[in-house]
Amino acid sequence: VKSKRNDSIVPLAATIVEPEVAEKIEVEDYEQLAKDLENSSPLEIMDKALDEFGNDIAIAFSGAEDVALIEYAKLTGRPFRVFSLDTGRLNPETYRFFDAVEKHYDIHIEYMFPDAVEVQALVRSKGLFSFYEDGHQECCRVRKVDPVFEGMDGGVGSLIKWNPLANVDGVNVWNFLRAMNVPVNSLHSQGYVSIGCEPCTRPVLPGQHEREGRWWWEDAKAKECGLHKGNLKQDGALLNGNGN
Ligand code: SF4
Repeated sequence: VKSKRNDSIVPLAATIVEPEVAEKIEVEDYEQLAKDLENSSPLEIMDKALDEFGNDIAIAFSGAEDVALIEYAKLTGRPFRVFSLDTGRLNPETYRFFDAVEKHYDIHIEYMFPDAVEVQALVRSKGLFSFYEDGHQECCRVRKVDPVFEGMDGGVGSLIKWNPLANVDGVNVWNFLRAMNVPVNSLHSQGYVSIGCEPCTRPVLPGQHEREGRWWWEDAKAKECGLHKGNLKQDGALLNGNGN
């Protein structure tokens, strides 16, 4: 599955192929690949992704139940890379969880950070909580969207997004995490379903949609950070990331 910069989707529960590699692959190949894998298990999809792309693909890890991707990658027996975006505003529990995951799997997460000059400019002019006043888009652009795209060697270009969890639901994922004794973010036991930045994420009640725990002071239609714009219309087949 391929997308260009302007409508790119970078789910945080997915593996992402670096743009310059993605551009070498024909569109028909993606379509065939998606078809071949439409009934595959998470392990099969992960194995195929790592087999095809090796070090040119990395697991985007948000610090939530997408830790399952790391467990599946480990189970393939292949080398794999993991990256995470540190917006600077995550919950302390999430930072602890990143550390626990690194130790559990004996890996180094490739952290990405926002541009310090841009964050300084935003915070000095508008304060630390401007998103409560004029919406989260500006802060998300500075702290999330720009670092992810600038962190990719190829910069603007095509991406291939794999979602090994496309064919399983949340219950399956949690059963897998428990069965494999995988460490989980302690925020989940406090009612958090969606995990993101601390000021913009809150627990939800049973039966509430996880999106109700994000940017709750804004209209429902404005609740995409920019990393996932396009998910709503492109979800399906391999595209079903958890989003962050
Ligand atoms: Fe800023 Fe909130 Fe977006 Fe995090 S989720 S980048 S704190 S607006």
